[in-house]
Amino acid sequence: MDRAIHQEFFTLNNGNKIPGVAIIGTGTKWFKKVESEETFSKELVEQIKYALTLPGIVHIDAAEIYRTYPEIGAAIEESRRKPRNQIWITDKYSTSLKITENPKVGLETSLKKMGVEYVDLYLLHSPFVTEEKNGFSLEQAWKYLEELYKNGKAKNIGVSNFGVKDLERILKVAEIKPQVNQIEYSAFLQNQTPGIYKFAREHDILLEAYSPLGPLTIEHSEDDEFYRYIKELSHKYDKTEAQILLRWVADRHVLPVTTSGKKERIEEAQYLYSFDLTYDESNNITQLGLQHKPLRKYWTEQYSKYDADSQKSDD
Ligand code: NDP
Repeated sequence: MDRAIHQEFFTLNNGNKIPGVAIIGTGTKWFKKVESEETFSKELVEQIKYALTLPGIVHIDAAEIYRTYPEIGAAIEESRRKPRNQIWITDKYSTSLKITENPKVGLETSLKKMGVEYVDLYLLHSPFVTEEKNGFSLEQAWKYLEELYKNGKAKNIGVSNFGVKDLERILKVAEIKPQVNQIEYSAFLQNQTPGIYKFAREHDILLEAYSPLGPLTIEHSEDDEFYRYIKELSHKYDKTEAQILLRWVADRHVLPVTTSGKKERIEEAQYLYSFDLTYDESNNITQLGLQHKPLRKYWTEQYSKYDADSQKSDD
């Protein structure tokens, strides 16, 4: 039986609405180096199928590099109850490691493997594109995405792990502006790269936060003021600490992208907007988070040099 759900959306710069939390990311704990029958994860299929039984539009995060298209395809195929317009699929073209010839071929391949006609959002996974490695420049990569947008294979397009300079390069040549920049973002990493939060807000490019629960996944002392405060809010609202942190991300106008191997956590994320934090509570989390040393889990080789700048407030 469906429980009533209050679903929130962010409005993208092209007017389209995106469901305000991605509840089943298929990277991190699910990603594989090889896509084969042996590595096919029945557990992931079960998690996605469970997610697809939840009410509202269910937001799935995928990528070429995760090698999880077969699982996503199987779960969608077996979950016929959910119409395609009640599923939001974000996909990403692999740039750092070249898997397919170009984004056009990449998306054609992933659509086939997932058994769908279009994706709701298609991203360039990183700005690390060079003519030598990829066979096309960053600007040309963007032109491929614009073509996919125009022919309706990607309903929205964007980027991931882009810094200000990378976005400026795209904006210079863009006929269609990126709708989204998916970056690592948590209370302990409020700027993946210098000034990115402010720049994205000013240019109406929606930020998505991957690893929003970073603070919960590391060893910490219960006496730490940040954790004590999250626990206090968790008791006050009768919500989990994860829900408090995801809700805070959304209050910062950033769309949280999370995942879990536990059904109850997937469900909790889908019900994220069933409660509110006050303005002051959200602001306290921001400030307490900024006082903490940076936590960067991904793209460390490229971005650890910015750690010192990652905890500067720039509202
Ligand atoms: P989160 O920060 O949301 O972490 C999810 C993990 O947190 C789960 O494994 C979950 O474990 C654990 N967790 C949940 N609640 C708690 C708790 N109370 N205490 C301790 N651990 C908890 O996101 P991820 O870092 O996993 O990233 C989410 C998605 O973002 C990825 O799957 C991928 O789709 C995308 N991503 C994109 C990247 C990019 O470069 N564009 C890079 C990295 C991720 P459990 O399973 O046990 O519930």
